[in-house]
Amino acid sequence: MPLPVVAIIGRPNVGKSTLFNRLVGKRLALVDDQPGVTRDRREGEATLLGLDFTIVDTAGFEDEDAATLPGRMRMQTQAAVEMADVALFMIDARAGITPLDEEIARWLRSSGGTVVLVANKAEGRAGENGVLESLALGFGDPVQLSAEHGEGVADLFEALRPYIEREDEPEPEEEGEFDPETAVLKLAIVGRPNAGKSTLINRFLGQDRLITGPEAGITRDSIAVDWNWTAPDGRVRPVRLIDTAGMRKKARVQEKLEKLSVADALHAIDFAEVVVLLLDGTRGLELQDIKIADRVLQEGRALVIALNKWDIAEHASSLFNGVKGALDEGLAQAKGVPLLTVSAATGKGLDVLMQAAFETREAWGRRVSTGQLNRWFDRALEANPPPAPGGKRIKMRYITQNKTRPPSFVLFGTRVDQLPESYKRYLINGLRKEFGFGAVPVRLNLRAPK
Ligand code: GDP
Ligand code: GDP
Repeated sequence: MPLPVVAIIGRPNVGKSTLFNRLVGKRLALVDDQPGVTRDRREGEATLLGLDFTIVDTAGFEDEDAATLPGRMRMQTQAAVEMADVALFMIDARAGITPLDEEIARWLRSSGGTVVLVANKAEGRAGENGVLESLALGFGDPVQLSAEHGEGVADLFEALRPYIEREDEPEPEEEGEFDPETAVLKLAIVGRPNAGKSTLINRFLGQDRLITGPEAGITRDSIAVDWNWTAPDGRVRPVRLIDTAGMRKKARVQEKLEKLSVADALHAIDFAEVVVLLLDGTRGLELQDIKIADRVLQEGRALVIALNKWDIAEHASSLFNGVKGALDEGLAQAKGVPLLTVSAATGKGLDVLMQAAFETREAWGRRVSTGQLNRWFDRALEANPPPAPGGKRIKMRYITQNKTRPPSFVLFGTRVDQLPESYKRYLINGLRKEFGFGAVPVRLNLRAPK
């Protein structure tokens, strides 16, 4: 589907090109200078706080013969309005309303298209009169902007959003379209030596062990093993086990094992979507395990922790609670990570483990629409308003999900860089709860409009 189109319309010198350049940034897509065709029109791909659209700049009349300017402008304006979803009608707030502005307003009104009035050069207070005058144009309150200084960008976003946002339409992912129902699950099983990784993998693969590696980019120390997991409901789901050298550890020198297992785990993590950290249930949680878990989350992968050898675990419930407590303490960001008990030797709990792996991956790839997000966001701010360090309020305006796998969000507002860590955590935990991200790593970036 093509991007929505926004055309910037206005008389010369109001700042159309300045806004165009700001929105397009480095990504100027094309400048069509075919003689006589679209000479006075530039198009580019714009991004505004996560909204993507095509922007058309109709500037470029200044150098031409002033006598024929209105006629050509009218043609240009009409052409731009016809092709655009929204016309951004820009005036110069410092200069106030001129007869040409009034004339353009008439053209726009008769075109019947969607018009958003923008009062540019409104930095400081110099534009106040122009803003008042512009009410007479009949397009309501203008968006006050300083294209040059980047002020009012969030207001512009708010004004455009209703017309051009596409709810629930996922952006194509880097790795192509991703359908959690059918996509191969890339799964790594990591853990300390003797946790039971080889036993688990052999149990999964049974007799049909099929080594398909090396996959592109995977070094000779890691291979991929394809396998189909048959869910209890009979569905067959493809899995690629990222197999690491850890599984062929036997030849390695004993004293190096501690180090090697982490290195191997890290290697597998690179290629995995979901990482199962397998613990020896008879030994509980050790520092090494916490390090691996921490790293998995830092790398933005989804994590599932399994306590293995549960068939021979003694005092199972206190053992389980001990591990859970140590995890909560040692790894705050892993709160809510699925902690399961399995036996690779008997096969008990393995379906639950695979189910959890698929579910976490689904959450890891989930996208929330900006509309849904901001409805939650407004409630979250109301329930717990942001602090005001030094008496100055932190003003948070919008939140949008800019990535999945792992879910990543951008929060826009003024002074958001001063947001305390605790408040950021409040928002991240709120996101998790509201949208069911479970324990997958959720990223929140703060950005003050520049
Ligand atoms: P266009 O002819 O509508 O494309 O206008 P330009 O983008 O070329 O801008 C015309 C002049 O206004 C330039 O000198 C810009 O630097 C200046 N200008 C643009 N935006 C602003 C603004 O927000 N504030 C101020 N003070 N000047 C601006
Ligand atoms: P790896 O080093 O992580 O690959 O661990 P292995 O798969 O080689 O297992 C280490 C030891 O634990 C072996 O003696 C296995 O037989 C044993 N083991 C693995 N899983 C289980 C289990 O679920 N229950 C029991 N009782 N023993 C297990």
